[in-house]
Amino acid sequence: MPELITADLNADRTALVLDWSDGVHAVYPLRFLRAQCPCASCRDVREQRAKDPFRVLPSHLLQPNCELAGVEPVGRYGMRLRWGDGHDTGIYTYEFLRELADAAAKLSA
Ligand SMILES: [Zn+2]
Repeated sequence: MPELITADLNADRTALVLDWSDGVHAVYPLRFLRAQCPCASCRDVREQRAKDPFRVLPSHLLQPNCELAGVEPVGRYGMRLRWGDGHDTGIYTYEFLRELADAAAKLSA
């Protein structure tokens, strides 16, 4: 498992840029990262929507804030992203972020 070397926002603050010890340079659009939030309540919302796409959910759940307000390392295994609306329960492990790197690359290409 490669280590994370640096984490930074891109120039227009719309994507998180991670550089890994094996030379991988990954750009993750913030909208995409928020949509992948690994916390229990966001996973729950995604599951509900997958089961019943017509179910009406509160708009803050459907169109969550995608501004990044802060990044905080969590141990040696991941980072906590704090969003503009104060949501900060999602811990993105480095393993998870690496798994997302390919999908993120396709989005930003
Ligand atoms: Zn969440």
